[in-house]
Amino acid sequence: MIDLRSDTVTQPTDQMREAMYRAEVGDDVYGEDPTILKLEALGAQMTGKEAGLFVASGTMGNQVSVMTHTQRGDEIICEAQAHIFYSEVAGLAVLSGVQARTIPSIRGILSAETIEAAIRAQDIHQPKTTLICLENSHNRAGGTCYPLDTLAEIRKLADRRNIPVHMDGARLFNAALAQGVTVDKIAQYADTVQFCLSKGLCAPVGTLIVGPTAFIDKARRYRKMLGGGLRQAGILAAAGIVALQTMVDRLAEDHDNAAKLAAGIAEAGFDIDLSTVQTNIVIFDVSRLGMKAADCAAKLKKMGVLASVFGEYRVRMVTHYGITAQDITTVRDVLHRLLKK
Ligand SMILES: *Cc1c(COP(=O)(O)O)cnc(C)c1O
Repeated sequence: MIDLRSDTVTQPTDQMREAMYRAEVGDDVYGEDPTILKLEALGAQMTGKEAGLFVASGTMGNQVSVMTHTQRGDEIICEAQAHIFYSEVAGLAVLSGVQARTIPSIRGILSAETIEAAIRAQDIHQPKTTLICLENSHNRAGGTCYPLDTLAEIRKLADRRNIPVHMDGARLFNAALAQGVTVDKIAQYADTVQFCLSKGLCAPVGTLIVGPTAFIDKARRYRKMLGGGLRQAGILAAAGIVALQTMVDRLAEDHDNAAKLAAGIAEAGFDIDLSTVQTNIVIFDVSRLGMKAADCAAKLKKMGVLASVFGEYRVRMVTHYGITAQDITTVRDVLHRLLKK
């Protein structure tokens, strides 16, 4: 099977397993796990932030961040298909007691103007807007990235209106690679960022939240509240360190493979907006072919390819460590055969 459902299916590398085996550990709730401390410092340093916090998942990273930034009854702004709103089990409402003001967008990217128009007025009827959330790269939009000048404009707006910015950077390293910059060049525009170690970077578990020290101290309490105070978590952090040290540059292979895959999908006759294929995600539409996404995925599965159903007519494929250029050639061939049937 060629598994293109997600970059979360990646297996830890041998070097990660070795590092996990040898990891020096302590009780992280007491702040005594040296490997966790090392990973948190490394993540903060790479993103140009003061401090970092290891959490169990990207979802926990986002939700703890929102809990830390907001009060019950606040409103936060995010894109209409943002993971934080769309795919986190209504955690915003349940955990933070906030509501989301969702803004539809083209290709997942919000502009400073559309965000500003959604900021609430000071009025007894209205909730307070206390957070702007940006997803970079944007998963449901096909792995699209915020242009740096757009981020700079949003930062200016956020400063002018005194509203913090949280970035859901589950795939922050993919966004940075696509734009030819290091992650700190992107992270500088957000107050806080979460990025996943367990997607394209291949670590088995974990996400880092990075931001100002005072924020991270407060976030640590919410992490504990949610049951995310792990003990000898250095076992996991050891793999995260290897991920940050050895798996960043190789993401370029995934982007190359995604571009080749997307070209093949277009060539085979599927509807695809190639401008969205900026990173390791490829989303295409099967409606024109009189198919539903679920039928398409089922047929692909019989032919040895796994893909995700991403809406009634949308199919998602994600390239990752373990998917080779040869696999992409095979998948392109399968797609051609699928349409000929
Ligand atoms: C995967 C993902 C998350 C959540 O990460 P989990 O580790 O699966 O909880 C958050 N945001 C985006 C954009 C993602 O793609």
